Amino acid sequence: MTSTATILTADYLLTMDAQNSVIPEGAVAIEDGRIVSVGTLEVVKASHPTLPVKRIDNALLMPGLINAHAHSGFLRGTAEHLPVWDWLTIHINPMHRVLLPHEAEAASYLCYAESALSGTTTVVDMWRYMDGSARAAEAIGTRLVAVPYVGEHPDYNYFDTLDMNEAMIETWHRKANGRINVWVGLEHLFYADAAGQSRAIAMAKRHNTGFHTHCSEAEVEVGGFLETYGKRPMHVLEDLGFFEAPRTMLAHAVWLDDAEIELIAKYNVSVAHNPVSNMKLASGIAPIADMLAAGIPVGLGTDGEKENNNFDMFEEMKTASLLGKLRHHDASAMDSWQCLRMATSLGAKAIGLEDEIGSLEVGKRADIIAVRTDTPRMTPLFGQGPYFNLQHNLVHAVRGGDVAMTMVDGQIIVEDGVLKTGDIKAIIADIHAMAPAHFARRAEWLAANGGGTKQWISEKASVA
Ligand SMILES: [Zn+2]
Repeated sequence: MTSTATILTADYLLTMDAQNSVIPEGAVAIEDGRIVSVGTLEVVKASHPTLPVKRIDNALLMPGLINAHAHSGFLRGTAEHLPVWDWLTIHINPMHRVLLPHEAEAASYLCYAESALSGTTTVVDMWRYMDGSARAAEAIGTRLVAVPYVGEHPDYNYFDTLDMNEAMIETWHRKANGRINVWVGLEHLFYADAAGQSRAIAMAKRHNTGFHTHCSEAEVEVGGFLETYGKRPMHVLEDLGFFEAPRTMLAHAVWLDDAEIELIAKYNVSVAHNPVSNMKLASGIAPIADMLAAGIPVGLGTDGEKENNNFDMFEEMKTASLLGKLRHHDASAMDSWQCLRMATSLGAKAIGLEDEIGSLEVGKRADIIAVRTDTPRMTPLFGQGPYFNLQHNLVHAVRGGDVAMTMVDGQIIVEDGVLKTGDIKAIIADIHAMAPAHFARRAEWLAANGGGTKQWISEKASVA
């Protein structure tokens, strides 16, 4: 893919640097996909006089959003109003039983297109048959952290395997000009036997990559850990060596006590917070303000299309703010800057890419979005002075549909709200064409198998 050397400018530039700098009539110069100058248009033009200037009218520029935990999929709106374990048994795991590689690839096209259109430039996607996901990310031009959904256990042999995960690393890690990273994934610690657990850690170390899993999402899981290991989940993960991977990111971490927060803060462990999913599946309210106070890098994620039900990171920022305020009965908790950081600079740290993305600073990759300022949702807008409200509008008012332009690695992939790197109508048509057959196969499987998959929690539910 080609990216052109240019200067990009708009009404305001929100850098998300350590000072939360906002530059009226700000600009960035971009060469070879990297930011080479940041400042007022005047200063940037003086430093790079030969570069053409592209002005996006009625917009502000800011770093592309980082979705720290998502799943490609096509079950949107078909698995509603169920608690997490019923939802897994009746809908999600049977989907995995009958999922085909071409269906998984179509789902990734849909996910990455929707993400790009709503201002997300990096997606951490835990999904299946991820060769197709990597092809989708390469074509659409998004940045991807691919995390195969691995089950390495006889009861969960319908997920990807660690062999498939390792092949994915060997084929795709740091490919597409470095836009694609591949981590080691486990759906859940209980989806791997002891040998699988230690092999997963060893694999992340050997390839110097990250490890990602779901943990402490539902309260009942804590009971499962206590019964199986005699300890709460974070202590078990420590004992098993999961915190020795170069980077471990835990999705959810809703049910952590104070000692567990203190413990993970000592390691290279980050958390992906998914407030919409946690509310929708009635999982609970994660103690995010406490984690942030302990110095844990917390990113923000939408989770999947079936538990959110969209990939709009602006909606996720707002929900993180509201849920944090509710948890602490404190209207000042989870302020707008904090929510913006979780979706940009701190999210980048949570996925170990803080040197590359997350802010508009010299040396970083040019992952930049333009958000419209001429909408009712952005009115009134004060980008400087005593009534400054730009950060509050972004978190509490703006929606993903207000994104005018999305650039990744210096390449514009969305312009004037239109996907430039794929045919959105064809991407949607592909899903409509294949979903009915998939649902029919799933219904057949369910009818032949007693209406659900075996789930560890069904045997241990009494501990809740
Ligand atoms: Zn998830």
